[in-house]
Amino acid sequence: NADIAMYHAKKRGRNRLCWFDPAMEAQLRQRSELEAAIRRGVTNDEFVPFYHKQIDLSTGALTGFEMLARWETADGTAVGPDIFVPIAEEIGLIDLLSEQLIRKALHDARRWNHRLNLAINISSVQLRNPWFAQKLLKLLVEANFPPSRLELEITESALLENLGLVRTMVTSLKNQGVKIVLDDFGAGHSSLARLRSLPFDRIKIDSSLVATVTESTESEAIVRSIVSLGDGLGLPVTAEGIETREVLARMLEFGPFRGQGYLYGQPQSAEQTQAELRALHLLQGADETSTL
Ligand code: C2E
Ligand code: CA
Ligand code: CA
Repeated sequence: NADIAMYHAKKRGRNRLCWFDPAMEAQLRQRSELEAAIRRGVTNDEFVPFYHKQIDLSTGALTGFEMLARWETADGTAVGPDIFVPIAEEIGLIDLLSEQLIRKALHDARRWNHRLNLAINISSVQLRNPWFAQKLLKLLVEANFPPSRLELEITESALLENLGLVRTMVTSLKNQGVKIVLDDFGAGHSSLARLRSLPFDRIKIDSSLVATVTESTESEAIVRSIVSLGDGLGLPVTAEGIETREVLARMLEFGPFRGQGYLYGQPQSAEQTQAELRALHLLQGADETSTL
């Protein structure tokens, strides 16, 4: 029990003490069960890509999808990526997990109309791997997927460390045509310096700002300044987290955005996405016949 209490104290930082509490033990057991389940999940291929629509807000046209990881657990419990991604990172499984997902996503997206992009999320831990860019390019070649249709969403926190390495990798990916998007902008310690630290192609305004833009004058002011920042730097903007018509109308006043949110639907499975694209005549002809 003392050991568990010590572990608990260490996790919270240096120079502190903690009394043992039975809840700590339960927490620890739960956590190690989750770790084991994630390892099994990767081995059994339980992680699948879902797709969330990205829309050109001014025309309403579909521009592509963001891939979001989902876990089809053996017992049907729902565990979201905000839980399993950080754990997979801590136990050193994120590279493998992400590779499985990207491979599936490229395979799915090959069938979509060639005007539709695929955006994928890349965490800071993945960017610490010096082989990341090479591995990603290899996956693109294997899937015969045009790099110009791929967008990498990177959050600001990924740029806090290893900027030199990240810049080298991003440059070689950009040379192949891959686009780089700054995700969750406006949520953390957003800074102008950060915006100029990498050759970004687009800024994604964090959903916490977008969702409150009609209620909070502060959010509105921040959105307004991000938009003029984007204008000044020649960076197009995506607004994520659009849930209502009111928010959409407000965002449209700011400029010609790309947008994403539950207003346009929830993230969907590969099959649901494919069925929807087929109905919209947005599946590639040759591939469409090959799937019949
Ligand atoms: P994110 O990149 O900011 O993704 C957007 C999240 O907001 C998604 O949650 C999406 O389902 C949700 N969302 C989209 N529209 C709306 C809306 O209108 N309202 C609300 N309330 N939410 C909306 P999700 O799928 O749970 O993903 C959470 C986070 O997990 C993502 O945040 C991303 O950081 C991470 N993640 C997901 N898939 C992957 C992955 O394959 N690799 C890595 N490294 N991270 C991933
Ligand atoms: Ca994202
Ligand atoms: Ca976000």
